[in-house]
Amino acid sequence: MKRRNFLRSGLAGAAGLAVLDRSALAGGINSGGDEIIYRTLGKTGLNIPVISFGVMRSDNSALVKAAYDAGMKMFDTAHGYMNGRNEEMLGNFFSSVPRDSFFLATKVKPAGVDSRTGLPSKETTGADFLAKFDLSLQRLKMDYVDILYMHAVDSVEMVRHKETVNAMLDLKKSGRVKFIGISTHKNEPLVINTMVDDGIWDVVLTSYNFKQTYLAELDSALERAGKAGIGVVAMKTMAGGWLDKEKTRAVNPQAALKWVLSNANVHTTIPGITTFDQLTADLQVMKNITLTGAEKDALIAGTAMQGLYCNACSNCLPGCPNNLPIPELMRAYMYAYGYGNLLMASELISETAVKADPCAGCNSCTASCIKGFNLRGKITDISRLAAVPYDLIA
Ligand code: SF4
Ligand code: SF4
Repeated sequence: MKRRNFLRSGLAGAAGLAVLDRSALAGGINSGGDEIIYRTLGKTGLNIPVISFGVMRSDNSALVKAAYDAGMKMFDTAHGYMNGRNEEMLGNFFSSVPRDSFFLATKVKPAGVDSRTGLPSKETTGADFLAKFDLSLQRLKMDYVDILYMHAVDSVEMVRHKETVNAMLDLKKSGRVKFIGISTHKNEPLVINTMVDDGIWDVVLTSYNFKQTYLAELDSALERAGKAGIGVVAMKTMAGGWLDKEKTRAVNPQAALKWVLSNANVHTTIPGITTFDQLTADLQVMKNITLTGAEKDALIAGTAMQGLYCNACSNCLPGCPNNLPIPELMRAYMYAYGYGNLLMASELISETAVKADPCAGCNSCTASCIKGFNLRGKITDISRLAAVPYDLIA
């Protein structure tokens, strides 16, 4: 392992200090004062605040209104969030304000993609993708969305899936979508580098946080994206929200956001906002991204803990004879215990088609995690959701 990677891996004692070394990424950053800090979203030309609204877990239009009134411009949802209610809530709110006063991003997940390999199947069709997008537009009560992402892409084959890509290009040509992008939270460097190589993409929405152990590769891909004019939006910025299942140690949310924004190649972030307290904290970062001494200490302490964030590096997969989709199960675990969102955890478990207690047939666990996660324990715990009827949670 290269020295820089080792220092950033979380395995070294100095990992926290290495994570704070952002000098090479901070070119031209305005760290703020009393004014909202804006950045331009690559070649889209959209000038937006560094904090946008991740609506994913919120069905509270009063919260969206408060963010809009405070100057937030970009609101991010997805076809699948809250079984469609998320888009409907946004459609109801935004139908009462001028269309040119905000930017709306949504995501459509292609059908039939293998959650373990990220590969498409014969169910992955342009027609299915377009039908889902039509329904999203209806729910949003809009003629167009500003950004449409192909959702949850983690393979070159999906970045280049002809039918889906052509469907997106047609939507852009027709004006029903202004800009096209990809969202990714697994194999992000590979996905982003492929997007840069292909030259047709406007925006990438990527996981990015101080708990990732492959930051050298990800930073390098983001730099390429920045040079190619691809707008970069960061998600999963809170690295799971909590550092332990028992919720004794929270990730410092302002420190985590400021850390992400210390990379000038990141143009905006979409922290999930579900409370007015969270909104207030995020609005403060929207005007000031300078890390305080206490926030630096919190990042260093957080780096030293195992946390709930799975890198989705897939290193554990070859060791599992049952071919379990371990990264997705760890993400469901984070949704449940980090975000406190059983619905998202349940939806993800359902997508993987894993049954309750899939480790029962194993005498001992032969899969190992680079972060030292107790895989069997976590999988046994979270897979209980597979036996809970959806309508009890939704
Ligand atoms: S215990 Fe579970 S995760 Fe571990 S090898 Fe067996 S099936 Fe895979
Ligand atoms: S569980 Fe561990 S090894 Fe497996 S993908 Fe997540 S971080 Fe990597």
